[in-house]
Amino acid sequence: MFTETARMLIDKQRSGLFNQAIMEFGALQCVPAAPACFECPFASQCMAYATKKVNLLPVKQGKTKVKERYLYYFHIIQGEKTYLSKRQGKGVWHNLYEFPVLESDVPLKFPELQANPVFQEMFRNIKEIKFRLVLENKKHVLSHRKLFASFYEVIVGKEGDIRAVSDSPGSFIRIPEYAIDAYPVHRLMEFYLENYYETSKQNLHQEARIRKIDVVNNDASSIRP
Ligand code: SF4
Repeated sequence: MFTETARMLIDKQRSGLFNQAIMEFGALQCVPAAPACFECPFASQCMAYATKKVNLLPVKQGKTKVKERYLYYFHIIQGEKTYLSKRQGKGVWHNLYEFPVLESDVPLKFPELQANPVFQEMFRNIKEIKFRLVLENKKHVLSHRKLFASFYEVIVGKEGDIRAVSDSPGSFIRIPEYAIDAYPVHRLMEFYLENYYETSKQNLHQEARIRKIDVVNNDASSIRP
């Protein structure tokens, strides 16, 4: 019944955005222990609220076993380009975009990542490469999964391209980095991108400030007798 109702309500053109909005609503507004009904935009249509059963619904059907999963994302920068893949499978992130990823049931240290066949195939064609860990073990909890996501910035030389192995989540597309906003991404990607670009902006400002101080100092020393 829930599946049927969800099918009727979903915005078919923007299913990814719809899913994200529902998840955010469940995480921020209609939270399990203390939903904020007094300021809820759906209060007038909510059966649980109308029948005073907010604390009783939904009825739990046994505890779902929550599995841990470790995701290692590679934010590849090749000149002005980056790589994305479209999430496949039946999960809540179906059809959303993300960076090339290596997934594991156990945490992996960098040498273990490097030894992984998915990693080796991905970067096999690349000659120059530099990794920087930008975000480590960002936790994200789904109903049946506890995810820990780490993001590496990967600067690669112009030669070669990044390859997906057949059992990785999807083949890669190469896009201009500035166009990334045009692709719907999941919450973890969104979190990373917001922080990454904010930090880059601050670093650029800082560099510009240092350059300005250097120019002023050089000018001052050049007019000293
Ligand atoms: S009114 Fe209904 S949908 Fe809104 S927060 Fe309360 S229980 Fe959730």
